[in-house]
Amino acid sequence: MYTFNPGPSAVYPEVRNYLTAAYDEGWLSAPHRGERFTGLMRQTIEELKKKLNIPQDYTVFFLSSATECWEVLAQSLTPTKSFHLYSGAFGEKWYEYAKALRPACTGYPFGIDEVPDVAALPLPDDEVDMVCITQNETSNATQLRDGFILNLYNRLGGALLAVDATSSLGGVQLKYIKADVWFASVQKCFGLPAGLGLMVLSPRAVARFRQINERSHYNSLTAQYEKMLNYQTTHTPNVLGIYLLYRVLQDRQPIKTVHQHLLDRATKLYDYFDQATQLKPLVQNPETRSTTVIGLQGPPQLIDDVKRRALQLGLQLGNGYGNWKPTSLRIANFPAIPDAAFEQLVQFFAKEYA
Ligand SMILES: *Cc1c(COP(=O)(O)O)cnc(C)c1O
Repeated sequence: MYTFNPGPSAVYPEVRNYLTAAYDEGWLSAPHRGERFTGLMRQTIEELKKKLNIPQDYTVFFLSSATECWEVLAQSLTPTKSFHLYSGAFGEKWYEYAKALRPACTGYPFGIDEVPDVAALPLPDDEVDMVCITQNETSNATQLRDGFILNLYNRLGGALLAVDATSSLGGVQLKYIKADVWFASVQKCFGLPAGLGLMVLSPRAVARFRQINERSHYNSLTAQYEKMLNYQTTHTPNVLGIYLLYRVLQDRQPIKTVHQHLLDRATKLYDYFDQATQLKPLVQNPETRSTTVIGLQGPPQLIDDVKRRALQLGLQLGNGYGNWKPTSLRIANFPAIPDAAFEQLVQFFAKEYA
């Protein structure tokens, strides 16, 4: 059985051994103020920076989910309002969470085949604290490329740029220096069980939240920062999740290699579905197609039929999301899914739906 669900997604088979090791090595009862745990935190952050090419002067925090990251950013880095560019359900949800805390927030929706024209955006606006984008929109299988992010970064004025990279961080080589905040959760491109989020912050973002100094919540960034100076957290952390992340990172190739592998697989799949089959890529514009989530579209009956028959062969495809649910399906192209799974998948389509 292979799952192509884009989250929670396939975990690495090695996770089974890591779990046993976590138990045997006593991590499950390790005191989180003790040296053993703080050593693990330090090594995990070192390994993360090394394997993913995160600049040394960036700060890493562990949270519980990407959703928590959305809320913390509104609390601790958005005294007035944020500006949200979105094309799909996750970007829109982020906007809604932010608006619930800061009603002055504004949103700018765009289409799935569209690269927004940065010069035409209502920016800079001196009142905007943060510009928010979703690098990989998991719901509709779109992606914002480096060039767009760079253009946006150059037009920020005093605002920070925050990037939801939940379904690409760990799979795609991101240009961390071209934004101030990046975040993800581990059940997507890290091939791990859910329950751990991570946030990566530029020196500029750290200086900003320290200056704002918001302290009303257990997860306020200032409080997290003060604890993290000693590799600790404000609360009892997900020690198991952090341990699993450490193990998975140790066994990983550098991000450059991982990225190239995913890119090759995505290119093959898009080429295939552009030509031969009854289903078509959901996203028409090659410039806005995601590397890590491939969306396919077709009539509802065909979509149902494909999912059902694939499942009979042990291939679990991801459902469409939100508005796209009846007329699309999604295929995660995450690092933990083996090449053999994709070979079976293409054979299935070639045989049944050519
Ligand atoms: C999955 C996902 C989220 C939500 O992640 P949680 O860990 O469930 O909070 C947010 N944004 C994007 C782009 C996602 O793919």
